[in-house]
Amino acid sequence: MTVDTGSATKADVQVRAVDVRKSFGSLEVLKGINLEVDRGEVVCLLGPSGSGKTTFLRLINQMETITAGRIYVDGELIGIEERDGKLYQRTDKDIARQRSSIGMVFQRFNLFPHKTVLENITEAPIVVKKVARPQAEARARELLAQVGLADRESSYPSHLSGGQQQRVAIARALAMEPDLMLFDEPTSALDPELVGEVLTVMKDLAAKGMTMIVVTHEIAFAREVADRVIFMDGGVVVEQGPASQVIDHPREERTKAFLGRVKH
Ligand code: ADP
Ligand code: MG
Repeated sequence: MTVDTGSATKADVQVRAVDVRKSFGSLEVLKGINLEVDRGEVVCLLGPSGSGKTTFLRLINQMETITAGRIYVDGELIGIEERDGKLYQRTDKDIARQRSSIGMVFQRFNLFPHKTVLENITEAPIVVKKVARPQAEARARELLAQVGLADRESSYPSHLSGGQQQRVAIARALAMEPDLMLFDEPTSALDPELVGEVLTVMKDLAAKGMTMIVVTHEIAFAREVADRVIFMDGGVVVEQGPASQVIDHPREERTKAFLGRVKH
């Protein structure tokens, strides 16, 4: 790999991507992504379908392996480690540790259908983090209150609306006590009338200081909540800045064209 060997030294940088590349066979999907996300920052990632947004989130969470470049989370190289100037693949245990500090919420809620809401939320803390059941359940109840579902702990996912299921999915991710949350179009599979309740939970999380990278087509949400908006197209960052710049006064033709196509 030819990479910038600089390390993530700035203390408040939580995610640092350095010339990140990803190919699937001969298809190069990410063509050198460089970006930094500060602790407590909310970044909204916009871009047309196929521009590599999901792939980028999946690389941060190590659901895909990087082709070239580096990603640091909390100053630590993701997936690989450097010893005496050489790169080594991290062990599965080390990768699991790195992943456990990152929460991810997908377009589809992916709840376990045969488990109750409470069981969905307590599963990973109990199994992965070895949290005692009473503590895991107490924390799950706090999180259910936070997402407005205190009365639904015994329900099964199929008895909940899509918006409720997505709020459970957020609570489930938060139960692992992540310090970074990745959202991949969390509202795009929802009926329009259910979008607001999920965005409200996300706004609340942002206000609490959570570092968030949010892939979304919700332009109003990005304008209201994002500290920074990043527009991606064709595997590169085309432009980035505050919403007032990127959304309201885009400089690049590709950004203008995209914004012209999405409703806002
Ligand atoms: P976005 O989320 O911006 O819509 P994706 O990251 O999902 O974009 O996809 C970017 C490109 O990578 C698309 O052309 C997609 O078909 C391709 N791609 C994504 N995952 C895979 C995969 N596992 N195998 C092959 N191609 C993939
Ligand atoms: Mg996607």
